[in-house]
Order: sequence, then C-alpha cells, then structure tokens
Amino acid sequence: MTESEIPKEYNASEVEEKWMEKWNLSMYHFNWGEDPRPQYIIDTPPPYPTGNFHIGNALNWCYIDFVARYKRMRGYNVMFPQGWDCHGLPTEVKVEEIHGITKNQVPRAEFRKMCRELTAGNIDKMRKTMLRLGFSVDWSNEFVTMEPSYFVKTQKSFVRMYNNDYIYHEEHPVNWCPRCETAIAFAEVEYETRQTKLNFVHFDKVDIATTRPELMAACVAVAVNPEDKRYSQYVGQEITVPLFGQKVTLIADEDVEPEFGTGAVMICTFGDKQDVRWWVKYELPLIKAIDKQGKMTKAAGKYEGLSIAECREAVIADLKAAGFLYDQKPLEQNVGLCWRCDTPIEILSEPQWFVKIDSDGILKAADEIKWYPEYMKVRLQNWAGTMEWDWCISRQRIFATPIPIWYCKKCGEVMVAEESWLPIDPNEAAPKKACACGSTEFEPETDVLDTWMDSSITALHVTGWESEHDLRLPAQIRPQGHDIIRTWAFYTILRSLALEGKKPWDSIVINGMVLGPDGHKMSKSLGNVISPEEVTTQYSADAFRQWGAVGGSTGSDVMFRWKDVVSASRFLQKLWSIYRFSMSHLKGFGQEDADKFQTDSLLIIDRWLLSKLNRLIDTATKELDGYQFDSTFKAIRGFAWEVLADNYLELVKGRLYGDDLEGRRAAQYVLYRTMKTLSLLLAPFIPFFAEELYSRFSDESVHTQAWPTVDESFINEEAEAAGELIKEITGEVRRYKSELGMALNAPLKKLEIYNANIDTGDIAGATNSKVELMEGAPSFEYVPVEVKPNMGILGPRFRKDAGAVVKALKAENPASVEAQAASGKITVNVNGEPIELEPEAVEIRKEVISGGREVDVLEVRGAVVVIVR
Ligand SMILES: [Zn+2]
Ligand SMILES: [Zn+2]
Repeated sequence: MTESEIPKEYNASEVEEKWMEKWNLSMYHFNWGEDPRPQYIIDTPPPYPTGNFHIGNALNWCYIDFVARYKRMRGYNVMFPQGWDCHGLPTEVKVEEIHGITKNQVPRAEFRKMCRELTAGNIDKMRKTMLRLGFSVDWSNEFVTMEPSYFVKTQKSFVRMYNNDYIYHEEHPVNWCPRCETAIAFAEVEYETRQTKLNFVHFDKVDIATTRPELMAACVAVAVNPEDKRYSQYVGQEITVPLFGQKVTLIADEDVEPEFGTGAVMICTFGDKQDVRWWVKYELPLIKAIDKQGKMTKAAGKYEGLSIAECREAVIADLKAAGFLYDQKPLEQNVGLCWRCDTPIEILSEPQWFVKIDSDGILKAADEIKWYPEYMKVRLQNWAGTMEWDWCISRQRIFATPIPIWYCKKCGEVMVAEESWLPIDPNEAAPKKACACGSTEFEPETDVLDTWMDSSITALHVTGWESEHDLRLPAQIRPQGHDIIRTWAFYTILRSLALEGKKPWDSIVINGMVLGPDGHKMSKSLGNVISPEEVTTQYSADAFRQWGAVGGSTGSDVMFRWKDVVSASRFLQKLWSIYRFSMSHLKGFGQEDADKFQTDSLLIIDRWLLSKLNRLIDTATKELDGYQFDSTFKAIRGFAWEVLADNYLELVKGRLYGDDLEGRRAAQYVLYRTMKTLSLLLAPFIPFFAEELYSRFSDESVHTQAWPTVDESFINEEAEAAGELIKEITGEVRRYKSELGMALNAPLKKLEIYNANIDTGDIAGATNSKVELMEGAPSFEYVPVEVKPNMGILGPRFRKDAGAVVKALKAENPASVEAQAASGKITVNVNGEPIELEPEAVEIRKEVISGGREVDVLEVRGAVVVIVR
C-alpha cells in the first residue's frame, strides 16, 4: 500500500456507508447459553416512538454504546438490548389528529389498531437513525411494549403484585388531568408559579380567604389555628357557606397559618393536598363539585355545566353582588400541572388502582446501587418522601396495557386473571371461570395501566424474567436521564423489589440533557433544535459521536456546538493523514514481522513512544472503567495528534526514508504496534473509522477484538525523559529556523549537544543537520556587535531630538557602550553636547563565539545545543 493508493481526503460518508452494509450485526448478540465470560446486561431506556430519535436520545445512546463496545472488548458477554415504550397519550392524540377523529368515534379495538400502526412506523424510522449512528445494539433482544410478548409480562407482574398485596383498588383522591381525562401519578405533576387572586369572603361567623371560590360548593369544613384568639369562641360551631347554604363545622387545626389571609380557610374536596390530609384526619364528607372533564357537577347547583374558570368568575360576581366578597388581593401560587399538556390538575376522588410505595425499602436498595455521578442519588432520596398517597397506576385511556380484571355483576367481587390466561384484554374476553358466588356475568375493567407499569419492568425483562432463560437479575447497568429519576428509576427499583426481592442493577449512570447551540433547552419554538441526521449528513456519525464523547461528563448538561463537530471532523482527517503516512511505510511489514522483531534495536524515541502508548492504554482503561468518556477520548486524541503526529512521525521520517535498514525496521515496528493499538482504543468511540483502520491489519472486525493491555516492560521513565529531550531539542531547532525565516528542512552546518545522554540520529534526520554529542562543557565568548536603542525610554525623554540620540548611539563602538553600561552610565555626544543615559536605555546584541566560530546557543532541559550556521 502506498500513499497514492489511499485517498488524501477522508471520505467519511463512503466509509461509514460501506461498514453499515458490511457489518454482521450478530457480532453484538448476547449469548444466553453457557458462557465463560461474565455477563454485562444493559437496561437500555426504551424511547417513546415519536418517529424522531432526537439529539438527547442520541447522546445517551453514544454513552451506552461506548460502554457496550468497551465491555465487549474487555471480555464481557454484553447485552445492549433495544426496547420501545409504546403506550401513552401522545400517540392517541396524534392518531386523532391524523385520522380526524376523537377516540370515542371508533371502536376501542379499531382505535388501538391505528395507534399500533402509527407506532410501528415510527419505530422503523428511529431504528434507522440508530443504525446510522453506529450503535452496537443487540437486535436479537429488541422488545416492544405494545406487543403481546412484552405486555404479557406487564400483566403477569400486575397479577403477581395484586395476589401479593402490593396492588389494591380503592376510591381515593388522585391527581387528575381534566384535559387528558385521566388520573395521573405524582411523578407526572409539574409545579409552576402562577398569579392568582386571594378572595376575602364573609361567612356568617368568620371571614375566610380563598383562591378557589368555585369550590365553595364542595366546602366541607372551615379551619382556624387553635392558638388564634380571634376565632376560638366559634370552634366546634356550625357555619353557613354563602351562596350555597350548606352548614359546615369550624375546626381548629395547627396546620392553619394565622397570618395567611384572614386566618380562616375553607376545606374543600379537593382544593389541594392539604385538603386531602384534613379530609382524612377529620373524616369529612365528600362533595364532588367537579367532574372528570373539568365541568361543574349538579353539586354546584345553578353553576352546573360551567367550566372551572367560568364558574369561578360567576361565583365571584354573585358573591360581590350579594355583599359577601369584601376584598381581593393578588397572590403568587404554586400550581400543579399535567406534565403532558400543562393543564392545571384537579384532585378528584375516583376508584383507582394503586401500587403500595415502600420508600424505605426503595432507598435501601438505592444504597446498594452504585450511582454515577454519586450526587444524583439525592434526587431519588428527596423524591421518596414527598408522595402523599400510593402510586396510582390506572389510567382512563385506551392505548395501553389492559388491566386483567373483571367485576362480578352479581356480587361485585373482583376477578383477577390467572397467569395462564395472559395476555388478555378483559374487554374482549371473559374470565375462564365463574365467580365464587357462581355468577358468570362480568363487567370488564376499562381502565388501563400507566405506561410506567410497562417500562418499570425493563430490568426484569432484559435479564430474562418470565422467559425460557434463567433469570439474570440484577442487570449490570442502567443508563438514563436525570429527568426520569423519580419515575423510571424509582418505579424500576420498586418493581424489582416487589417481584424478585432484588435490586434491579449494580450501577446507574445518569446523563445530562442536551442544550441548543444558544445554551437553551432545545425546543421547536426557540428554533434551536438540531437533529442527529443533520450532523451525520453534513459531517459524519463518527464526528457526532466524538462530540458526544468530549462534550461533557456524565450527569452534566451538554451544549450542542457545531464547532465541536467541525473539530471532530478535523481530527478524523488528521488521523487519516497519520494512517495514510504510516501505511505507506508499512508495506511488507505485517504481524509476523512484528512478532519476531527484536526490541533491543529500538532507539530512544521509539521507546519513548511505546512508553507513552502503554501509559495511554492504562489511562484509557481506568477512565473508561469510571465512565469518563471525555477524559478518555481527549487522552487518545492528544496522543495521536501531539505525541504521534507532531513529534514521533517527524522524528522518524529520516529513518523511514533512509538507508539504515535496522533503524527503519524499528520505526516500522513502532508504527505497526501503535496504529493497531490506536484502532482498538478508538473502536468504542468512532467505530466506523476504527474498522476502516483495522481492516488493513486483519480480516476480522475490530469490534470482536480484545481491548489492548498494558505491556509494563515498555513503560520506561528513563526512555521517556530522554525522548522528551530529543523531542524538545528538535522542536527548539525548528523554532529557531522558523524565527530566522529558514525552511524547516534547511540544513544547518552542525549541532553540538552538551550534557545529554541520548542518541542523535533522529535529531539529525528531523533537522537535516549533522549532530554531535559533546563531552564536557562548552566555552563561549560573547562579542558585542550592535547597540539597540530602547525607544520606550528615549522617545518620551528626548521627543523630537530622539532621532539624533539614536544616530549618535549607533555610531558608537558597541564594545565601548557595553563597558560604559557596565559602569552605570553611558555618555554620548549629540550635536556637540554630551548627554548621559542610564544603562536601560540601550540593549547590546552580542555574538556568541565558540571554538573560534560564530554560533547560536539553545538551552533545553539542562542540555546545551550549540548551533553552527
Ligand atoms: Zn393533561
Ligand atoms: Zn360474584
């Protein structure tokens, strides 16, 4: 192979397309059978199939892929499965939009079919992006949560948890989104500060302040603080609610803040979580004034049918007209919003399905898991204590896993499916046995499961839970974003404990979010969204992946910057040039030659490079073991660019092109080893480029090779120090030439090096000069040859006369000026006048004479280089 046979420019798209086509992806398959390798199972996040594998996904997958590829090379039996978390509202909304229908206009089964078709198409699109980015996914372990093969497990997990008392059905207040018309879990409520009004209203004995006058119909008590003297006389008495007329009791409770509003508050079913607490504590009645669509009910009397906002306006107007409302003040309020649609949530009491939350157990398991970065565990700990009630898992939607439950029409008993009946949709099939009461008439459960019920068993699923294989829980690692710690991470730990009594994974790695080039969160409205395809089309997958590797460390948010992609692309070109150069000199040098090479013929700079190379392997291994992708990749890049290209290759060019066969062989050996090792170290990060590189060394894929190991015998501090000296002397001589405007390959008469124990052949080659290693110390004579006036001093002092002073100085004998300067003052005659100058006013340029020749002298790390021009 000669340089001319390898194109000068790296054609990334050609190379990447070639390997995408050639690769046999079965090399990434996990072996479920007997295997001496330790298992390394990744609990990959199943993305929501929107059809758009966005840049945040892509970054997370880069991290996963770096780890998967690295672990495979380290000898693990790796599973990098890919799942798809299909169910949920966004798909339902999209289907309604595409078909111009609402979900109630078509039969349930028909609607589900439309959702499934849309989802399948979207998965295809996203799969393509993943392949384009070169992720080493194990497609033999792909899972799709809407497929019966997966949701049978979701249903099994429900049945088992129900039978083991982890799941119960109860009427209880829950967070409700009136727009999505479904219950949601605490984890799906987001809080936002909004402006509202605090309304001051006369009741018959006390005045109350409320932000929710529309809930007066659902007022079931009034509360004051027991310490509040203003109201103590009325505690326990009945109070009449204005406009609506119901009589409620005045309760004293220490949770009432006397300073807020009037110090007296309404307890309604339900204005907020505090109402729920009081409602439970005092066993208050339940009045449902708001329905599932967010409309006022019959309980609201004449306001029935109004929306919440309309009702608020009408009630305020009526209170005002009747003289009950006496003041209004602006108030900032923390409002709970539905995370899907930003609608303010209501708290409604409805029969729902709940999973019991054992926060202590979850936190204990979290402590047994290694967190990267460690501080992310705090987010889980902070979350665990904040939920007011258990995890509500029923949803009043359609496209989701059916709850395998029926209700007996005769006695009302719950009939749960037996595991052997699963998968099953209770709306399409009846129970296979009669109720205990003898009845065979059932009402199916129409509620469906929260999608987190599907995705919180991924760790179980990928480790073989309820499959033909043995269970391999825990998985080794869970990579995920910090935005879903309180959902996906929390629920997964909960489910793994409930179903198998084990932690789900050994480690969890949290990645950051991707910010747009402007530093803001990417959003369509800001117009700062970048798709992975834009990057792969304009540059390459390998450039994108490098951005992912160097952009940040785990846990922190990463900004997308085109300039990082551009410099990644430049690095590929630089690597290509290194490769192209190396290959032209490795013609006829193969593995056999490397194997039988005698390392005692290596020169110092060869040993220097091999020592650095082995240190690089050591660093890369340690950093990757700690998931530090940025520092790993930067170390590899620094080695390739600075150590190898800028220095080593320049130093050995002389040998590679020269006649000294032994010296040439040594450089070839080093190049061979280094290029092969580099292709292995680069393989996890830039798999396409690494494969292209490695293909010149072997017919096998680089992605089935072992990670390089450190050869301690090559780590040599002495060789490193001597090599540094050679490198720096060469660098200094090159700098010297360029300062003098000489060509870098211009020959110098001779270099004499004192006080250095090195071999000089490579310096001679790289500087194109004769080099001699000298004994003893050099002797120099310094001859003043030029007086250089210091205008910084002379200018301000002599102003328009400065020119005359300079002229006079230049006319003086430099040796005499130096002698005067040494005595402390210089005297010159300017236009017949003697003028005194301080020594700082001039600089004396001297020539160095050594051995009777004019020379220049460089000092490098204690060595002295005498340059004879
Ligand atoms: Zn909503
Ligand atoms: Zn029955």
